[in-house]
Amino acid sequence: MFEYAPAPESRDIVDIKPSYGLFVNGEFVDGGGPGLKTVNPATEEPLAEVATATSDDVDRAVQAARKAFGVWSALPGAERAKYLFRIARIIQERARELAVLESLDNGKPIRESRDVDLPLVAAHFFYYAGWADKLRYAGFGDNPRPLGVAGQVIPWNFPLLMLAWKIAPALACGNTVVLKPAETTPLTALAFAEICQQADLPPGVVNIVTGAGDTGAAVVAHPDVDKVAFTGSTEVGRVIARTVAGTNKKLTLELGGKAANIVFEDAPIDQAVEGIVNGIFFNQGHVCCAGSRLLVQESIQEELLDSLRRRMATLRVGDPLDKNTDIGAINSAEQLAKIRDLSAAGESEGAERWSPACELPQRGFWFPPTLFTGVAQSHRIAREEIFGPVLSVLTFRTPAEAVEKANNTPYGLSAGVWTEKGSRILWMADRLRAGVVWANTFNKFDPASPFGGYKESGYGREGGKIGLEAYLDV
Ligand code: NAP
Ligand code: MG
Repeated sequence: MFEYAPAPESRDIVDIKPSYGLFVNGEFVDGGGPGLKTVNPATEEPLAEVATATSDDVDRAVQAARKAFGVWSALPGAERAKYLFRIARIIQERARELAVLESLDNGKPIRESRDVDLPLVAAHFFYYAGWADKLRYAGFGDNPRPLGVAGQVIPWNFPLLMLAWKIAPALACGNTVVLKPAETTPLTALAFAEICQQADLPPGVVNIVTGAGDTGAAVVAHPDVDKVAFTGSTEVGRVIARTVAGTNKKLTLELGGKAANIVFEDAPIDQAVEGIVNGIFFNQGHVCCAGSRLLVQESIQEELLDSLRRRMATLRVGDPLDKNTDIGAINSAEQLAKIRDLSAAGESEGAERWSPACELPQRGFWFPPTLFTGVAQSHRIAREEIFGPVLSVLTFRTPAEAVEKANNTPYGLSAGVWTEKGSRILWMADRLRAGVVWANTFNKFDPASPFGGYKESGYGREGGKIGLEAYLDV
C-alpha cells in the first residue's frame, strides 16, 4: 500500500471568537448561566466559551420568536422564500469556512463536512425555499397555516445539518424558532446566527440558545412553544414525550437506530464492502441510521469478511482536517467511554473482536474501526446503539430469516439490502420495519426524501413534502 503525504486543510479561514453569547431577537446577548467550553475532540484544545441559557433566557428567546411570528407568518410565501434562498447562498459562499469549523468542533473528517454535510445543508435551504410559496399545493388544504413558535433541540453528530433539517421547513411554513444545539458542538449554530444577520432575517425569526440538557428541557417545557422537534437519544426522547403529553404542542421525535445492512449471496461483493464501510464508518459511526448490524448470507460470509478486513486496513484514522482522513475523532470523552464500554461487553459476551493495525494520535478521543464476528442476537452489541465505528456481524440463510433478524430490534430507522435481484429488494423493503430502506447503497440523503423512524426510533418525518406537515396546522 502506498503512503499519503499530509494534506491538511488550513484552519485560517475560520475566525473563532474567544466567547459567544446567545442569539436572541437578532442580537448576541449574554446568558445567565455559567459559560461552557467547547473543545476540539481531536486535540482536546478548548475552542471557545459559549453562554448557557437559563430558563429566563429561554423565555426571552421564546417571547422574541412569538413577536416575530406575527411579522414572519404574515409575509407572502414568496417573500419568506427570498430569505431562505439568501441563507442558502450565503451557506454556499461560506461553505469552506463552515466545513472547517464543523470539523474542528465535532471531529468529523473535512472530506465529509466539505462533501456531505455542507452541500446537504445548502440543499435543504434551497429545497424548502422552493416550497414556501407553494404550500397550498402540498396536499394540506388551500391555506395551510403555520403552528407558531417551534422549539427545536438537536444532537452533536451532524450539528449544522440537523439545524438545517429543523430550521428550513419551519421557516418555509411561516413558523419562528428557538433552537438549542448540542453542548459539545455549538459553533456552527452560532455561525448560522451570524448568517441570519447577514441575510437581514427579521429579528426573532431564528433564536439560538446554547447550553446543556437543562436548556433543552426549558425550551421543550416552555408554555408558549407550539411545536417541539427533537433529534437525539431515545432516552431523552422519552423524557420529552412525557413533558409534552397533555399539552397542545405538536411533537416530532427522531431518535436512535440499530440498522441492519443485509448482504445476499448474489450481491456484488466489492460494492457491498464499500457500502458496509460507508454504512458504519462514515462520521465515526456517529450516525443514527448507521448500518451497525451486518447481516451476511452464510454462504458468502468468509469471502465477504476477508474482503471487508482488507478494506478496513486501508482506512486512515487521524487528523480530521487532513483531506485524506477517513475516520476522525470521537466527539467527546463521554461518547468514547460509551463505545469502549459496549465493545468490552461484546468481548465478554463472547463475540470475537478485530481491528486493523492502526496508530491513534496521543491526544484527543479516538477509537479504531472495529469488527465483531460471532455475534448473537442477544448480545448487547447486537441490541444497543453503540454510536461509534463498531460493526456487529450476524449471519442468515434465507430471506425470511434475514427479515426476522433485521426486525428483531426495538428500533426501526433504516436498513440496507444488497442483492442483484430487484424483486428481492422490493420483497425485503415491504417487510423491513424501517423508515428508510437503501438498496445497493447506504447513507444516501436528499432533502426531497423523507426520513424518520418506526418503533423506538421515533415518530414524524423530516424532509420532503411530508416534512412540511410537522410545521403546519393540518
Ligand atoms: P441526547 O443526549 O439525547 O442529546 C440530544 C440533544 O438533547 C442535545 O442538545 C442535548 O443537550 C439535549 N438534551 C439532553 N437532555 C435533555 C432534556 N432532558 N431535555 C431536552 N433536551 C435535552 O443525544 P446525543 O447523545 O446528543 O445524540 C446521539 C443520539 O441522537 C443517538 O441516539 C442518535 O441515534 C440520535 N440521533 C438521531 C437522529 C435521527 O435523525 N433519528 C439523528 C442524529 C442523532 P446536551 O448536548 O447538552 O446534552
Ligand atoms: Mg466541540
